[in-house]
Parts: sequence; structure tokens; C-alpha cells
Amino acid sequence: MRILVTGGAGFIGSNFVHYVLDEHENDEVITLDALTYAGSKDNLDGVLDDPRHEFVEGDIRDRDLVTDLVSDVDAIVNFAAESHVDRSIEGAKPFVTTNVQGTQTLLDAANEANIECFLQISTDEVYGQILDGKFSEDDPLNPRNPYSATKAGADLLAQSFQTTHDLPVLITRTCNNFGPRQHPEKLIPKFIQNAAAGETLPIYGDGSNVREWIYVEDNCRALDMVLRKGEVGEIYNIGSHAEKTNFEVTEAILDAIGADDALIEFVEDRAGHDQRYALETEKIESLGWETEYTFEEGLERTVEYYLD
Ligand code: NAD
Repeated sequence: MRILVTGGAGFIGSNFVHYVLDEHENDEVITLDALTYAGSKDNLDGVLDDPRHEFVEGDIRDRDLVTDLVSDVDAIVNFAAESHVDRSIEGAKPFVTTNVQGTQTLLDAANEANIECFLQISTDEVYGQILDGKFSEDDPLNPRNPYSATKAGADLLAQSFQTTHDLPVLITRTCNNFGPRQHPEKLIPKFIQNAAAGETLPIYGDGSNVREWIYVEDNCRALDMVLRKGEVGEIYNIGSHAEKTNFEVTEAILDAIGADDALIEFVEDRAGHDQRYALETEKIESLGWETEYTFEEGLERTVEYYLD
């Protein structure tokens, strides 16, 4: 399979590029990434010289470039996005242009090419918060911050291309990822680095917000499975059922580093902060997927990576 991976110099995208090239010796990957503040070619160390891999610095909103790249692949996996909720609250524009218009540009180009699969990478955040129970793929979308609103917009556009143009679209919605190569603006790498440096760990509100955490390699395996075995037109939730409050995650990091609880600082809550996300996962499990790493095992590996 020849795959165009957009956003492949970012956190999950780069882990996915490594995963595909490690697991499928006959596959070829083109990574397209604009190298925003969140992307780095260092994340692709080890595969930049691989003859099965090509790195292209460019923007998913560049129609000519995208048309050219899409003409030569079997599948597109669209990770490229502005991904940080706090930044979307400060200013939503780049989120709209990359997450919505960028996806539309890719969909238009894919629609004129001859691809087997367009995999849109989405998030549990599009469902909004849930206080009890879990979201299934049929639940309505109720995004509550600008980031998740633009991701929901992209999902709906992708679905519309499937129903109106018969484009072979699949969508995955994963819970919070953690692991190697994540930008240090995100909670787990930031707290590991702060704890190791003896700096404070700022927790929003009272730390009771709950997230479901998945080790990035488990997510990459699920995405790869959906790409190869998923049913066109379907949405797949990918979740670990490892629910933790932000306070529990912080304590686990402090324990792993051997740092003092006194580093914890409670700060003013994020505006519109969703209280809890949780996903039903029967559909992805029916493809034969399950997590391999517990939260604790994933965290041990992640701490080791950042301390190195
Ligand atoms: P990230 O911010 O680490 O990486 C995003 C990458 O996209 C970066 O390399 C950046 O340079 C690139 N990019 C941004 N705008 C671009 C553009 N216009 N053209 C080309 N490249 C561009 O994000 P991530 O955490 O790896 O998330 C990847 C995808 O997975 C996103 O679509 C995100 O919504 C989704 N997702 C993330 C999580 C999570 O926990 N991180 C969970 C569920 C879904």
C-alpha cells in the first residue's frame, strides 16, 4: 500500500509513520507536513533515509500540491490539524482553516483521484462531555470548544463526501493519546518535564476532569487496522477504558519521577472545560483489536522517553 500521511511530523502522525514502516515491509509512505510549531522532522528520525519513505514539507490547504501527491497513492490518512484546545480558545482561525478547509481540500483532491481509502483522524471531543455512560459511534456530535467544533466540521464534511460522492471515507475517534514525540505543551509531557526540573505542575480547576488515556502505539495499531480492515463509511471509536482524573494523572507522574506533591498548583479552570469523555469500543474490538499497554505501562515508557 502507498499511503499519504498528513501531519506525519506531529505526535500521533509520526508514531503512525514509524509503525507502518516497521510493520509492513512492502508499504510506502509519503509524509506531508507544514512543520508548524507542533511538527518536527526529528520525530521522523530513523525513517527519513528509508527508501520507502518520502517527506514533503507543505500545507494540506495547498490544492496543487495535494492534487499532485494524491494522484500517486492508494490511501490518505489525515492527521494534519491544529490540535491544542487552549490555543483554539485564544484564536479559532487557524483551526478553521487547517482542520476544516484543509480537510475539504484533501477531500476534493481525493475525490478526483483513484484512492481506496480516506481515513479521517478524529477525536472523542467531537461528542462533547458525558457525565455517565459512554459515547457510541451513533451518538450526536456536541462539540463544546473551537478545536472540537472544527474537528466535528471535518468529520461531517468527510461523511458527506462518502454519501454524495461515494468517496471511500472512514473515520476514527480516539481518546487522549500519550507517549513519545508529543509536543511539551500537552499535559503528560509538560508535567513530566516540569516534575523532572522541580517546576510547578499547573492543574486546571480542582483536577477532577476525567479523560480516557491510550498509549499512542495502541492507537496506531488500531488506526492501521481500520485502514486495512475497516468498513468504508463507518466510524470507529478507539478507547482504552483507562479513565483518570487530571489529578490522578499528575500523581502518577510525580510518583514515577519521585517528585514532591508540593509541586502541584491548582490554577483557574479552562473556559468551557469538558468534565469527562468516555467511549464505547465494541466496533473496533470486532476487528480484533485490544490495547496492549495499561496506563501504568505506557506511562513508564513515556517517562523514560522524556527523561532520556
Ligand atoms: P500534533 O499537533 O502533534 O500534530 C499535528 C501535525 O500537523 C503537526 O506536525 C503540524 O505541523 C501538522 N500541521 C498542522 N497544520 C498543517 C497544515 N495546514 N498542513 C500540513 N500539516 C499541518 O497533533 P496530534 O496530537 O499528533 O494529533 C494528530 C491528529 O489526531 C489530529 O487530527 C488530532 O485532532 C487527532 N487526535 C489527537 C488526539 C490526542 O490525544 N493527541 C486524540 C484524538 C485525536
